[in-house]
Amino acid sequence: MQNSAEVVVLRLGHRPGRDDRMTTHVALTARALGADRAILVGEATQARETVADITDRFGGPFDVTVTDAWRPVLRDWDGAVVHLTMYGEPVESVTGAIRERFDGGDGGDPLLLVVGAGKVDFEVYDRADWNVGVTNQPHSEVAALAVFLDRLFEGRELDREWANADRRVIPKATGKRVEEVDDWS
Ligand code: SAM
Repeated sequence: MQNSAEVVVLRLGHRPGRDDRMTTHVALTARALGADRAILVGEATQARETVADITDRFGGPFDVTVTDAWRPVLRDWDGAVVHLTMYGEPVESVTGAIRERFDGGDGGDPLLLVVGAGKVDFEVYDRADWNVGVTNQPHSEVAALAVFLDRLFEGRELDREWANADRRVIPKATGKRVEEVDDWS
């Protein structure tokens, strides 16, 4: 899959212990469904290590970093900011405009995709170019992220090539098959 511009997921509000699995799943979903990197805010080192390990084994490129300083990331982002929230505008009405900015002239603008864990500070709603709801029902950041990325890429992310994988799953109707990859491609 050819991205026009970079897509970065910013995961806010990680609570150590309580959110470890969820934060890992946010980053794994970002990786699997076409984002280029994830920034995890807080004490999310374990999640970063898990995702880095998956990327080493199953391929990339995908980068994951941990920071405490999310405000500068948001403030200095040179591109579009999308915040996923149940209070936002319906995904089905705004994705076209978001894609236009992301895919438009000169390769488009990079996209920062913000997802929360607990309560999200109001300044995020203010800074976002789009606050987007995947339905206006409360559910999960993993589900919201998956639906949003699939809408953004219109399904093309399902076809992407993985570089530097040392193993590859061979799809099967029944059972499991995983092959070692000799030639790094
Ligand atoms: N009140 C929160 C909100 O603003 O969506 C719900 C918190 S929820 C446990 C954690 C995260 O999941 C939210 O920060 C948001 O990023 C995402 N989320 C939950 N429901 C969503 C929805 N319907 N649409 C988009 N994102 C959603």
